[in-house]
Amino acid sequence: MSGSWRISDSKLDLVAGKHAHIVIVTDKKVLSYVDPRRFGHIYFLSKKNFDQKINSYPMDISEPGFDANHIKAIFENQPNKVLKTFLLDQKKFSGVGNYIASEICARAKLLPTRIVNTLSKKDCSNIKAAIDLIIFGAVKTQGTTFGGGYRDAFGEKGEGVQHLVVFHQKICQMCKKTNVVKTVLGGRGTYHCPLCQK
Ligand SMILES: [Zn+2]
Repeated sequence: MSGSWRISDSKLDLVAGKHAHIVIVTDKKVLSYVDPRRFGHIYFLSKKNFDQKINSYPMDISEPGFDANHIKAIFENQPNKVLKTFLLDQKKFSGVGNYIASEICARAKLLPTRIVNTLSKKDCSNIKAAIDLIIFGAVKTQGTTFGGGYRDAFGEKGEGVQHLVVFHQKICQMCKKTNVVKTVLGGRGTYHCPLCQK
């Protein structure tokens, strides 16, 4: 999602400042929560309620336990789901946003419309590898950005956008020759390469 924390020496300029919903000012620095699309939630909780809240969340896709076996088990539990739409279910795939879902399908070489009961153990391993590449690859390059949304805590634009292979791309960046097809799946813009993805 596009919400992020920003650390700056003074209050943010008007453009970013307009979307700063929480601003904490100290002697030296200004910490701002910038969230143009207002998807974020902020809670002020006691320690007890905090523990309760944290424990109520499902395993995040970035956690080591979120492996191919875990993915396979999720699919076996709800076998008739459509892959890309299912990837957006935050109760199962916590942390997957719309662009990540398209990119996971692409990197795993799977059509977004695949029904999950048709996916093999190997496909689940490929999904896991895709998640690692997208999540940890993007972190290394300061986060993925598109449409100017994402910046790191110091306001630098992320460069992860250069590593997107289908999302908002004209030509597939895996085969470098096929036009990316845009469809709408479950009401969300979805991108795939008809050559690379089966
Ligand atoms: Zn391709």
